[in-house]
Amino acid sequence: KYKDIATPTRTKEILTNHGFTFKKSLGQNFLIDTNILHNIVESADLDADKAVMEIGPGIGALTEQLCRAAGRVTAVEIDQRLLPILSDTLSPYSNVSVVHGDVLELDLHKVVREQFAGYDKFSVVANLPYYVTTPILMKLLEERLPIENIVVMIQKEVAERIAAKPGTKDYGSLSVAAQFYAEASVEMIVPASVFVPKPNVDSAVIKLAIRQKPAVDVLDEAMFFRVVKASFAQRRKTLLNNLQHNLFRKDQKEAVIQLLESIGIDPTRRGETLSLDEYAKLANEVVRTGL
Ligand code: SAM
Repeated sequence: KYKDIATPTRTKEILTNHGFTFKKSLGQNFLIDTNILHNIVESADLDADKAVMEIGPGIGALTEQLCRAAGRVTAVEIDQRLLPILSDTLSPYSNVSVVHGDVLELDLHKVVREQFAGYDKFSVVANLPYYVTTPILMKLLEERLPIENIVVMIQKEVAERIAAKPGTKDYGSLSVAAQFYAEASVEMIVPASVFVPKPNVDSAVIKLAIRQKPAVDVLDEAMFFRVVKASFAQRRKTLLNNLQHNLFRKDQKEAVIQLLESIGIDPTRRGETLSLDEYAKLANEVVRTGL
């Protein structure tokens, strides 16, 4: 049993010893509260038979907890200056490797093949850099990696948007995209005081339990997402208006009304009131009629 990294004193000691200074542009806010880390790890349902990928290990605060809870840990870090620190702080653990790179640029299928041989699935657990939260999550979801759970600390507002239900103000194309691939739940709200330096926003831990197959059956996934995007383009406009302006032509108004009515969706509704089922029905009807 080793001394935890995630305490204010130990973190300060590590940073001072290595002369490390934070880069705001890389979203570097390090966790200094072991209770929060234990809760994150618990949400991820890890055990010695599981593999986990961390994005942005920083000085290893979460990484060491993952090393204790999982069989195999791979951490992807963009900041070269952290590599010697990590090789120091993670030296007690033999089940971890650090991959240097930008998670948005890396071929994650390749990383998974090389790092997780012998595991058919893995989970992603991270305190994400907030400037790239959405692109990272969308990459993880869209690339159809063999992921079981994603448990990540992100901005509270983004977490609420991801988990939002139809008819609420937070419900949007991000909610639909995330819930298409996963079951989303906000696990806990986290105050800014558990980070150094303190971020300007509140945070939350979100869990995405990846579905075996998407939540709804769609004939053409690209069309499904085009319809969703178009429907939310201007929140105050009706579904008809948004679809007509962002997906179809002006002279197709009557055809769009007919299509919507044929599947029982009132054209005067707003995009934010449609469920995933209704979006699937709509997109499938667009494909079927070739409109
Ligand atoms: N896991 C540590 C913790 O909880 O204390 C650090 C979390 S900090 C919010 C985000 C980390 O992600 C930093 O270490 C930062 O250097 C790293 N990072 C930022 N952008 C990245 C990217 N595109 N790819 C990989 N890592 C990135």
